Amino acid sequence: MALRIVDVLVPVALDHAYSYRVPDELALAAGDVVSVPLGPREAIGVVWDCDVAVRPGLHNRLKDVEAKLDFPRLKPELRQFIDWVSNYTLSPRGMVLRMALRMGELGPERDRVAVRLSGNAPTRMTAARRRVLDVLADGLMRSKPEVAKDAGVSVGVVDGLVDDGALETVALPSQTVARPPNPDHRTADFTPAQRMAANILRNAVTQGGFAVDLLDGVTGSGKTEVYFEAVAETIRKGRQSLILMPEIALTGQFLDRFAARFGTRPAEWHSELSPRKRARTFAAVSAGDVSVVVGARSALFLPYADLGLIVVDEEHDAVYKQEDGVHYHARDMAVVRARIADIPIVLASATPSIETVVNARRGRYRRLALNQRFGGQKEPAIEAIDLRREGPPRTRFIAPRLAEAVNLALERGEQALLFLNRRGYAPLTLCRACGFRLNCPNCDAWLVDHRFKRALVCHHCGYTKPPPPKCPKCEAPDSFVACGPGVERLEEEVQVLFPNKRVLVLSSDLIASLERMREEFKSIEQGEIDIVIGTQLVAKGHHFPKLNLVGVVDADLGLGSGDPRATERTFQLLHQVIGRAGRDKGHSVGYLQTHQPEHPVMKALIAQDRKAFYDSEIEAREKAHYPPFGRLASLLVTGPEKGATEGYARRLAAVAPIDEQVRVLGPAEAPLAVLRGRHRFRLMVKSARNFDLSAYLREWAAAAPKKAGGIKLDVDVDPQSFL
Ligand code: ADP
Ligand code: ZN
Repeated sequence: MALRIVDVLVPVALDHAYSYRVPDELALAAGDVVSVPLGPREAIGVVWDCDVAVRPGLHNRLKDVEAKLDFPRLKPELRQFIDWVSNYTLSPRGMVLRMALRMGELGPERDRVAVRLSGNAPTRMTAARRRVLDVLADGLMRSKPEVAKDAGVSVGVVDGLVDDGALETVALPSQTVARPPNPDHRTADFTPAQRMAANILRNAVTQGGFAVDLLDGVTGSGKTEVYFEAVAETIRKGRQSLILMPEIALTGQFLDRFAARFGTRPAEWHSELSPRKRARTFAAVSAGDVSVVVGARSALFLPYADLGLIVVDEEHDAVYKQEDGVHYHARDMAVVRARIADIPIVLASATPSIETVVNARRGRYRRLALNQRFGGQKEPAIEAIDLRREGPPRTRFIAPRLAEAVNLALERGEQALLFLNRRGYAPLTLCRACGFRLNCPNCDAWLVDHRFKRALVCHHCGYTKPPPPKCPKCEAPDSFVACGPGVERLEEEVQVLFPNKRVLVLSSDLIASLERMREEFKSIEQGEIDIVIGTQLVAKGHHFPKLNLVGVVDADLGLGSGDPRATERTFQLLHQVIGRAGRDKGHSVGYLQTHQPEHPVMKALIAQDRKAFYDSEIEAREKAHYPPFGRLASLLVTGPEKGATEGYARRLAAVAPIDEQVRVLGPAEAPLAVLRGRHRFRLMVKSARNFDLSAYLREWAAAAPKKAGGIKLDVDVDPQSFL
């Protein structure tokens, strides 16, 4: 038999596939998952290329493919997607493959076993054994942990009884990940505008093929109900749908709404899944046993058996950008995957990103508008509270007019939400006697006072220490004072202003798990809370029937950060959070406490003029050649020593290829100059819109001087973070 060679891509930080010899008895095709020797180890990899020419002299040194693994073949669509993402983001192909393979989740599922009485008496009886037998006396089977818990004993006691022959084990059938959703379980009565949008989306699925629809609808207009019709049509065609969501929006409420529409909950994919559930979901998705996946951004890389539709909900959300490892933007890459798979994609948002709006205005995306809330509910009226004229008393943060409005809402038996996008008690802590500020030993950042946890915490690296009893500098005892508000400090003020009200603080650091968070949201929904104090955790996606008042404590917080998207982000966040109000009732109001009521963002919000905001922001971007009118990339150089780090950044800048379509700015010290003990210098690259920035960067990287002394270079195409 002729010598056969394949190229196998392994999920490690390598761009190139390795060649292996195929043993005679093995039949391999591109996409097959195989095990191969890699140095001294054995690795799992994927056959990337089957027709590899035999180069003279090479074949003798090649190792053999060890085995073909029992796993569905990676489809060409997914392999092409991996190549594309790698090429675009400049991440090694192996690292992108790694996201799709999720090595820990490959492999057979461990059997789940239960125990029940065998009918034999144990050879030895103890009080603990007695309790186990009592629990199982009904003859039914239960899992070992369940028995142990009910009997108040350790699992070891149960195991002992199994070894002793008094209990027998029974293998449980493997659980299904999700039951098949029924596309006709309950259909909605649509308004004419909703029906039109739903029909267009349904047709896009029926016709098949790549098409991007922007579902641009105000908060509460029924976007979810509308895109569910596209999902229903995809189910009817027997294909799979992926609904991407910001992780935080994956609430029980959403899953329940899905169940109300389709008769069962969808499969979930996010970081909180147990390893077992991940493994099962992964297997079911690749086998085609799951027809709808609702997931966070990493769900984009799952090996779907037959993906037919992608929906990106809250498409503007910044969490779609992965900031570590492979720097990819899940919304943008979702459009790429849809194009490669030749399937429709829906981008939904009440505040679409500037990029997406420009694509719609250029006619590349179809825009479906829902301009009214469902049920005739009006959007909240928005008023500014000018902190320069009617601010709160010193060391207080709630202006009298806002407090008054909260009181009125509570009197009517409604809820109020106070929004402050700052975790902890106070953003800054300083010594009253000498002005000393507590900062992080690893980062160029202040420590944030978290009173609830009795700790000072760095929000960048997680460094935590107990509050010092005296100032480390001047040794004054108990001299530290809090400056500025965090949600915990706001809670203190709320307790004083509104005594005996049920107050809930929602902040990511106070919540132990996604399950716990879902319970807290439920308690708000059910009216068990009067005043909610929250960070951006509460801003998105939720529907709280009794909430008609939102007060934004510091509307200016996100502005002036030097981030080119600061204005857009602030508009989106404030619009979304105020959009939580009045979804069930006619009257609702949002208050913006601000020092700059004349800022275009505040003016557009108050006038309820989204178009004015988009027009002015798009014009500003165009003038500055910022995305999407130009392209950006960031080259971040980090290292343990400041001088060496800056020196490397300068040498890197010196070898930048010359191109008239490109401007290289910097290096400059990053705003967050030190992070986790590493100094940070950044180069920004600006190019024309249609320029192949990835190719330019690759050429540059090839010419980059050798890195030494722990220096690292991190390339980020289309950066979202400029810290
Ligand atoms: P959005 O996603 O645009 O914020 P939702 O899809 O959450 O809006 O809809 C807001 C509320 O209105 C939800 O409670 C939803 O169930 C309800 N709703 C929207 N459209 C309809 C409809 N056609 N029939 C019944 N209820 C609807
Ligand atoms: Zn730190």
